[in-house]
Amino acid sequence: MPEENTQTLESRPAQENFEGASETRNVLIIEDDPIARKLLRVVIESEGMNVIDAEKGRVGLAKLAKAQPDVVILDLGLPDMDGKEVLRRLREWSDIPVLILSSHEEIDDKVDALDCGAQDYVTKPFNAKELLARLRVAFRSKPSKPEPSFNYGDLRIDFSARIVTVAGKMLHFTPIEYSILRVLAKNKGCFVPKTYIKKLIWGNVISSTDDQLRVHMSSLRKKLKEAGMDGVIKTENGVGYMI
Ligand code: CA
Repeated sequence: MPEENTQTLESRPAQENFEGASETRNVLIIEDDPIARKLLRVVIESEGMNVIDAEKGRVGLAKLAKAQPDVVILDLGLPDMDGKEVLRRLREWSDIPVLILSSHEEIDDKVDALDCGAQDYVTKPFNAKELLARLRVAFRSKPSKPEPSFNYGDLRIDFSARIVTVAGKMLHFTPIEYSILRVLAKNKGCFVPKTYIKKLIWGNVISSTDDQLRVHMSSLRKKLKEAGMDGVIKTENGVGYMI
């Protein structure tokens, strides 16, 4: 029965990895390079999400207001206005997560953009797997009902009191270790990119190294292991970490 086999990308169920699997995610891409735009569309649509795109800043802002997407991917170099200006304008009225798309030459701009309220950035040329991992995190950073606690087996985190216990016994972490554990718990089931964690902890991803992060991660894992929670944090080489 051929008519029963005509499942299109649009009718595909949302991927399990994405929270709220029943609702389709909408991504707005503001990017003037047609090749990059096309590539982003293919990668994002292959995950069952909808794509809206704009090649100019002003059009992008208008589409943002009209379509109310879940995430914006914003190129910094646009023909009609600076990407940072687009970000400043949308931040005046919207809390939407924004992923910056930039080229290597735009490092200073990238840092400014993070300071202006972008969640994360992806450098061109981008890796599809990494882009999708970052999108998942961006979706989760969308303001939602705050979760007061996290439970995973015997591990419990009380976010309001900043208390971590395993089977009722309290664990002691440094502020950095706690921040790492918290961001992984908040994104349970998703790989959290290393750059995202570094930005969260040190603010500036350029001056912090993967080695610094590894040291804190190893101490965090050791404490969890001693408490009987060995292997709770998984590593994806080159991408990030996950609970
Ligand atoms: Ca551009």
